[in-house]
Amino acid sequence: AKASGRNCVHLFDPSDPKSGDDSEAVAALLRTAIDRHLVSLVYQPIQSLPSGRVDAVESLMRLRMLDGTDVPPSVFIPIAERTGAILELGRWAIDTVCQELLSNRHIAFATVNISVVQLRAPGFSKTVEDILHERRVPGTRLAIEVTEGLDLELNSEVLRSIGSLRQLGVRIWLDDFGTGFAGLSWLRLIDFDAVKIDRSFINNLSNNRDVTMLRDIIELVRNRGPQILVEGVETSEQMEILGNYQVDYLQGYFIGHPRPSANVGAIIAPQALQ
Ligand code: C2E
Ligand code: CA
Ligand code: CA
Ligand code: CA
Repeated sequence: AKASGRNCVHLFDPSDPKSGDDSEAVAALLRTAIDRHLVSLVYQPIQSLPSGRVDAVESLMRLRMLDGTDVPPSVFIPIAERTGAILELGRWAIDTVCQELLSNRHIAFATVNISVVQLRAPGFSKTVEDILHERRVPGTRLAIEVTEGLDLELNSEVLRSIGSLRQLGVRIWLDDFGTGFAGLSWLRLIDFDAVKIDRSFINNLSNNRDVTMLRDIIELVRNRGPQILVEGVETSEQMEILGNYQVDYLQGYFIGHPRPSANVGAIIAPQALQ
């Protein structure tokens, strides 16, 4: 792949065949990205309610090109899934999160985003088991976030994989709930420990219809048993409205941005709901 200019990532458009060079460049980069320390994880705080304690984090992957440009996950994750690089990156991410948990004992648990490509791969749960064992991290300190993608078939491999992970104590979370139809079938077939309500549902809470919609979604999930996290909380107005509902976790720029260390401190967030 040819060297990529500073602008290439911004020009990247998956629907434009002429931008294929960038995709190839990213694909090539991903093959050696771990060894060259071009991938990293950042950690976004998760606030637990009603304590208001920030004692959990979500890990998010970052990729830096050789020229210092950051490639957004929305661009490189699909490429990694297509080329299979996601398997090695995903393994690296779980291992890195476990090390981070070891040096931050006040963090109750950390979540890792898992691609369905990983869930389908034979031996995925064994890989997780080996990492937990080697790092001596209890499975209960790890949660995996799976997304209801449209292409997601809920086949027996995926269900078996999720079942084995649960046996290790790993928490199973459903991400981006409400963005597709698949979420409902997932909710029917899997006992999730928690469901993350997509931030599109709290974008416009000044609108009564949107408030009603959010209330209905929270009720739908709660009736099935999982805990509830609302993501994308950016304003005190949103915090105030969310205070009217029984929500277990909050996440968003208002609570905290992603940062390079999981050491968010066992703080009570000043904005914490009462
Ligand atoms: P996601 O899992 O839904 O992650 C939430 C995204 O929203 C993150 O973007 C985060 O930085 C951003 N965000 C957090 N709080 C706020 C807020 O208050 N307002 C707004 N507007 N945005 C907020 P990011 O890091 O760019 O990740 C994008 C997506 O890439 C993730 O969506 C996830 O689907 C995927 N991804 C990221 N890291 C990984 C990974 O390690 N593995 C896999 N398989 N996918 C990943
Ligand atoms: Ca996520
Ligand atoms: Ca999400
Ligand atoms: Ca998402």
